[in-house]
Amino acid sequence: MPVTDVRTHRVRVPLHTPFVTAVRSTSQVEALLVEIRDEDGRSGWGEATENWRVTGSSIAGAEAAVAGPLAAAVTGSDPDDLEPATRALAATVTGNQAAVSAVDCALHDLAAARLGVPLGQLLGTTRRSVATDVTLAVDTPERMRDAARRRRAEGFTVLKVKLGRGEHDDLARLTEIAEAAGASTVLRVDANQGWTPKEAIRLVRAVEDRGLNVEFVEQPVAAGDIEGLAEVTHAVGLPVMADESVWSPRDALHLVRTRAVDLINVKLAKCGGLRAARHLVALAEASGVGVLFGSMMETHVGVAATAALAATASGGGPVADLDAAWWLTHSPVAGGPRYDGAALVLSDAPGLGITALADPAPALSPR
Ligand SMILES: [Mg+2]
Repeated sequence: MPVTDVRTHRVRVPLHTPFVTAVRSTSQVEALLVEIRDEDGRSGWGEATENWRVTGSSIAGAEAAVAGPLAAAVTGSDPDDLEPATRALAATVTGNQAAVSAVDCALHDLAAARLGVPLGQLLGTTRRSVATDVTLAVDTPERMRDAARRRRAEGFTVLKVKLGRGEHDDLARLTEIAEAAGASTVLRVDANQGWTPKEAIRLVRAVEDRGLNVEFVEQPVAAGDIEGLAEVTHAVGLPVMADESVWSPRDALHLVRTRAVDLINVKLAKCGGLRAARHLVALAEASGVGVLFGSMMETHVGVAATAALAATASGGGPVADLDAAWWLTHSPVAGGPRYDGAALVLSDAPGLGITALADPAPALSPR
């Protein structure tokens, strides 16, 4: 039953709260959903998000890559022959990881659907629930403190704190948040490349001196500054994570060889989908480097695929930063995952459990 059809759907979903980091501010998610159909009429779903500032991917670019070379690569292929089909994708285009990921995930979803099992089961686990943190968008210390209180009241015990807007203000923000959230709240700090190595070292040492309950510090310095990343990692006690510095397994290999980080953030939109992400996980595990499963600002479609992989990870370390779709006013699809407090719960239905575009259809881009 070969792949017969590759369709794309543009969706735009508003956020209930603006999402602000050191490098971007957004009030909606624009995404390209990819639907791959087989001869039996089954569908597999994947997602490419638009993110000019971090990944450089656009809806128009992803649409062109999917409708052109990526659709040509998978049409007529056997979706049950998943490994060769997804390997061929990676060799079809250079860059365009978000588009490659969308097609790769759609093929995985379709393969699981054809077997009649949830995607997580195809990847090797019966777990259907993944605990996630929730992000505190960068703001004034007072507003971040209030947001911390609200999120704690909603059941989140792990807060991802976006910093990187200035060393001294950042320490004030983090201290306010830690006091407001209480000692039992775990804080994850993400500077989104916002500090110099010296600033990062001073700030992390101050955090350690104050005894704040911080689990790790993510991407303290510029993405390309691997030496600076290693400098920070070696100078502080808290674990340091690479996000924007690691896209492919080859990037991860370089970080491992240079002992530049303790942890890596695996995102499908950076590495090109579940096949590459599994390679990243294997490389990290063999190297003693920890993994966090993260996402861009994505809808329920992209987040569900990452969660299925995150569910395969053993506990004991940071696992998932998958609150992206929690920020949306609604899902662009029917079926799929849902949030239950701090848990992202995957569907028990075959594949990702997505049955169709949401009805009524999400606001389509007027382009
Ligand atoms: Mg990050």
